[in-house]
Amino acid sequence: MNKTLLMIATGWLLVHTAYAQDPAATEDWSKKPVIVTPGCHVAPPSDALVLFRTGKDLANWTGSEGPAKWKTRCRSMTVNGTGDIMTREKFGSCQMHVEFRTPSKLSEEGGQGRGNSGVYIQCNYELQVLDSYENETYYNGQAGSVYKQSAPLVNASRKHGRWQVYDIIFHAPQFASDGTLIKPATITAFHNGVLIQDHFELKGTTVYAGYPKYEAHGDMPLLLQDHGNPVSYRNVWIRKL
Ligand code: MG
Repeated sequence: MNKTLLMIATGWLLVHTAYAQDPAATEDWSKKPVIVTPGCHVAPPSDALVLFRTGKDLANWTGSEGPAKWKTRCRSMTVNGTGDIMTREKFGSCQMHVEFRTPSKLSEEGGQGRGNSGVYIQCNYELQVLDSYENETYYNGQAGSVYKQSAPLVNASRKHGRWQVYDIIFHAPQFASDGTLIKPATITAFHNGVLIQDHFELKGTTVYAGYPKYEAHGDMPLLLQDHGNPVSYRNVWIRKL
C-alpha cells in the first residue's frame, strides 16, 4: 500500500469510528409521537373514543335486533336478559379498556354459570368475563381466557361484587381478497393491571364446541355478551390503532 492510500484509509477509519461512537447517530427524530394526556384513575385518555361512561347513555350501542336494552344505573349498564349488545361503530386493531363487575350475590350454579359474560372483540373473539374468584372451571374458560383457546397467564380476579378492569391490545386478523388468512389476530391483555395474555395468536373465531377457524371479515363492532348473569359494565373506551 503506498503512502497516499494508507492516509486515505486511516482518515476513513477515524471518521467512521467517530461517527459510530456519536450517540446522535442512533437517535430517531423522524416521527414525533403524538402527545396524549393520560387519564387519572379511571378516566379515559384524551384521544379515546368513549363508548360508555354515564348510566343513561346507550347511544353508542345497539341490540342484535333493535335498540340496546340493558339496565342502566348510576354509571353502569347491566345485563338483564335482553341479549348481547354491540357498538354501532366498527373497529379494527385497537386498544380498549373495559371495567366489569360480576354479581356479589352468588348463583347456586358455579363454574361457567357464575358471573359469565364476555368481551367479544370484533364480534368474534371472546375475552371471557367470569367470576373466577374461588370458582374453578376449565382454565381456558375462566376469567381472562381467550375462550377455549388460551388460559390466562395468572388469575388476577378480584372478589365478586368488586369492579375489575381489562385493558386489551388487539391486532385484527388480515385476509386476502379471496378470504384466505394472511395474518392471524393477536391479543395482549391485562386484568386489573396484570398481564394475562401476552401477544397470543388467535386460532380463529370463538366457538363453544369444536375447533376455532377463521372466516374473513373487515372491521366489526365490539360486542358484550348476555350470558344470563347480571354482569355490569362501566367506563368502556377504545383507541383505534
Ligand atoms: Mg362468556
